[in-house]
Amino acid sequence: MYRRFAEVIVPVSLPLLYTYEIPGTFLSQCVEGARVVVPFGKSKFYSAIVRRITDVCPQNCEVKEILDVLDTVPIVNAIQFQFWDWIASYYMCSVGEVCRVALPSSLKLESATVLYRTTKPMNLAELKPKEAMLLAAFDDKTTEIELSKTSKYTGLKNNIALVKNLIALDYLVADKVIEEKYKPKFAKFVSLADSITTEAELRGTLDTLAQKSPKQFETLMTFLTMSQTKATDGRIAVRNEMERKTLMQNPRVSPAALTALISKSLLRETEREVSRIAVYDGDIQLCNPLTETQESAYNTIQQLFENKSTVLLHGVTGSGKTEIYIKLINEIISQGKQVLYLLPEIVLTSQIIRRLQKVFGDEVGIYHSKISDGERAEMWHRLCSPEAKSYKLIVGVRSAIFLPFKELGLVIVDEEHDGSFKQQDPAPRYHARDCAIVLAGLHGAKTLLGSATPSIETYYNATSGKYGLVELLHRYSTAGLPEINIIDTLEAARCSSMKSIFSSFLIGEIDHTIKQGQQVMLFKNRRGFSPYVECQTCGWVPTCENCDVSLTYHKHENRLVCHHCGYVMEMPHQCKSCGDNTLTTKGFGTEKIEDEIKIFFPDARITRLDADVTTSRQRYERIIYEFEHGLADIIAGTQMISKGFDFKNLRLAGVLGADAMLCFPDFRAEERAFQLLTQVSGRAGRSTERGKVVIQTSQPHNHVFEDILNGDYKNFYKRVIAERSMYAYPPFTRLIRLQMKHKDSHFLDDCAATLASSLRKVFGAGVLGPEYPVLPRIQNMYIKEILLKISRNHYGIQAKNCILAAIGNLRTGVSKGGLIININVDPQ
Ligand code: ADP
Ligand code: ZN
Ligand code: ZN
Repeated sequence: MYRRFAEVIVPVSLPLLYTYEIPGTFLSQCVEGARVVVPFGKSKFYSAIVRRITDVCPQNCEVKEILDVLDTVPIVNAIQFQFWDWIASYYMCSVGEVCRVALPSSLKLESATVLYRTTKPMNLAELKPKEAMLLAAFDDKTTEIELSKTSKYTGLKNNIALVKNLIALDYLVADKVIEEKYKPKFAKFVSLADSITTEAELRGTLDTLAQKSPKQFETLMTFLTMSQTKATDGRIAVRNEMERKTLMQNPRVSPAALTALISKSLLRETEREVSRIAVYDGDIQLCNPLTETQESAYNTIQQLFENKSTVLLHGVTGSGKTEIYIKLINEIISQGKQVLYLLPEIVLTSQIIRRLQKVFGDEVGIYHSKISDGERAEMWHRLCSPEAKSYKLIVGVRSAIFLPFKELGLVIVDEEHDGSFKQQDPAPRYHARDCAIVLAGLHGAKTLLGSATPSIETYYNATSGKYGLVELLHRYSTAGLPEINIIDTLEAARCSSMKSIFSSFLIGEIDHTIKQGQQVMLFKNRRGFSPYVECQTCGWVPTCENCDVSLTYHKHENRLVCHHCGYVMEMPHQCKSCGDNTLTTKGFGTEKIEDEIKIFFPDARITRLDADVTTSRQRYERIIYEFEHGLADIIAGTQMISKGFDFKNLRLAGVLGADAMLCFPDFRAEERAFQLLTQVSGRAGRSTERGKVVIQTSQPHNHVFEDILNGDYKNFYKRVIAERSMYAYPPFTRLIRLQMKHKDSHFLDDCAATLASSLRKVFGAGVLGPEYPVLPRIQNMYIKEILLKISRNHYGIQAKNCILAAIGNLRTGVSKGGLIININVDPQ
C-alpha cells in the first residue's frame, strides 16, 4: 500500500525533526509548510510545521499518525525554512526553538485541558462555595469549560487544586483537546433592506412607525442620518451599511427597536469577517524632493548595490537618512517587490509611522511588541495568502525578520548599532541585523544599514571593502549640529557652582531656553530616585533577597525595588544592621532629576519618560505627544528619550552623570557611551536654530568626551579598533558566551570547571573563565560564565560542534538535574 510520511518541526527545544504518518484521509490536503496537529510525548498535542513529505518509512520505531491538518496553503515558505536552518545552526539552537519565536503565538496551538460535567447531582454538603460556583456554571449551553478560563467563575487565580478535588469527587472529568487559537474576527453590519426601493416607500414606513412605535422611528431615523442613506429622483440611491457596534453607540438608538426593525425586514443585518488591523485613511503625499547631497548619496547607494549586497549609510543625526530610505522604498515597491524596514522598538513610535503612512498609505504593515497577537496572526496570513492585497512595506522590530515575505527587494536596518536588535532570551539569541543580511541574501535582495554612530563591527566591514560606505556629514536644517559643552562636575563643585545635581551653567541654559519658549531634555541612564541607599553609620546597603544587587530607591512610592527581578520592599526607617536613623540615598536617577528640577523651576511644566511611567504603550505615546505639542517644557528620561525623536522645538539637551556609562566592565562600554551621547545630542536643535548640549561629567578628559565635542566618529573608531585589535576582541575574533545556572553554587562551580577544562583541550587560551558575572545571583540562581574567543579562521560549524559535544558530555556526566546552559553566539 502507498504510505506517506511527514517530517515535522515541533516547537520545542529538542534538536530533531519528527516523522509522522499521513493518514489516507489527509493525503491530498497535507502540504509542506502547513501546520498539522501531532501527538507528542505521553499526553501532549502540538501544532507542528510540515518540513518535508517523503515515502521513506522510518525504521526501528513506531510511527504515530498526524491527527489533523490545519492549513491548506503553506504558512511557511521554502526561503523561511532555509532561514530557520541557518539561524539554528549559527546561533546553536534547535529549529523548533526558531519556530517558536518565529510564529505568532496564536498560530501555535498547544493542548488545552477542557472540563466536562458528569451527571452526578450537586451535593452542597460536600462542596465548598467556590466549587459550587464552578459547577453552577455548567448548563445546557455551557457543556464544557477550559481549565484556563475557570477563574472567571470562581474569582480565584489558580483553580488547579479546586478542579482536582471536583474530579476526585466525580463531578468533573478532564480531557485534553487542541484548539485553534487564531480566530478570524467577525462584525455585524446594518443596512436598509433591499425591499425599500423608493423614497415614497421609505416615507410611508417612517410615517407608520412615527405613529405606532416612536422608538423604532427614532432608531431608523438615526440610522438613515448616520449611514448617510440618500435618495435622488425619488429612488434610494445611496445605500450605505454601517457597523452595528457604531450604530449602537448612539444614545438615540434602542437595542430592542433595532431588533424589531430587523425582524420586520426594514433593516438588514449581515455578518462578515473584518480586519483587526486599523486601516490608514489619512492623506497621501509625495515624498520630499532630496537635496543635492542627499540625491548624490542616494545615487551612490544604488551604484554600490550593483556589486555589494550590503551598504552602510553613515549620516549624522538629522541628515535626512529617513528621506533617503523613503525614496529607496518607493523605487523597490514600484518594481513590485517588498521592503522590510527594521527599527529598534523604542524608535518605532507614532512619529515615524505617521511619516511613512503619509507616503505609503495602507501598503505599510506595522509589527512591534505592542500590537496584539491576533493582529500579528492576521498580518502573517495576509502575507501568505495568494489573493489578498498584501503589504509592500513592513516596518517592524527585530522579530519582523520572521514574517513570510514572498519577494523581498530591500532590507533597511535603521540605527543598526542598537543593542535591542539582539535577542537575549530565550534562544535563539539572534541579532536581527545580522540575520537580516542573511535573509536579504536568500531573497537576492540588498541590505542598507543606517546609523549616525555605526557599530565598530559594521564600520570595520564598511571600510575593509566587505560593505559599501556612503556618508552624509551635514544636517538638513541650516542650523547645523548643536554646540556641545562638557562640564567638569568636580571642578564645578570646587568652585561651589554645583546646585544640587545641576551645574550652574546647565541651570542658566535651562532658564534661557524656557524663557524663549523652547524645550529641554534631561537624560540619565538610570531610572528611579537613587540607585542605592546606604547607612551613614555602618555602611549597610539594602540588597535584593533573590539577586546580589543593591535595591533602587523610588521616592514616589517610598519603596526599594530590584530592577532585575522586581522584588519590592518598603523603605526602612532605620538601618537594619545598626539601627541608626542614618539611611541616605546615593547617586540619582530620572525620578530625582524630575523632583529637583521642580525646585529650580517651579513654574515649568515637567514630564518624565522611563520604564516606570510608561506602563502601557498608550501612556508612552501620550507623553511623547504632549511633549511634541508643547504641553511640557522639560522632559527627563532614560534611553527611551534618546533615540529617533524629531522634536522641532527642542533646543537644549542635558546629560547628567555621564561617567556612569563608562564604568561597565565590558569591552563595548566606550562604544555604547559614544553612541548614546551622540544620540542624545542629536535631539537638540533639529529645526532652524542651533541647539545646545550640556554634558556633565567628573572625567571631562576621557577621550570619548573629546570625540563627542569634536563630533569625530572616525577618530573614535580609530582608537577603539586599535584596542580591539590589541586585545583580540571582535571584529578580530568571534565570541561565544556560555552561561551556566544552578541553585547550588558548589555544584555549579564543579560543572563550570569541568566544561572549561574540556573546552581548553580544543580552544586553548581562547577559553576565558569560568567567572561570576557582575550579577552573580539572580532570582536565587547562581550564575557562572565561560567566554570563548575564537579566531576568525577557526570559527565555523566545526568549532560549534566541538562546543555542543563538550556540553553533551558534561550533561551525561553530571549527577544532579536543573543545570541550565545558555549559549550566546556574538553576545552584546
Ligand atoms: P535622520 O533620519 O538622518 O535623523 P531625518 O530624515 O529624520 O534625518 O531628517 C531630519 C529632518 O529634516 C526631518 O524633519 C526631515 O523631515 C527633514 N528633512 C530632511 N531631508 C529633507 C528634504 N530633502 N526635504 C524636506 N525635509 C527634509
Ligand atoms: Zn547602619
Ligand atoms: Zn532581585
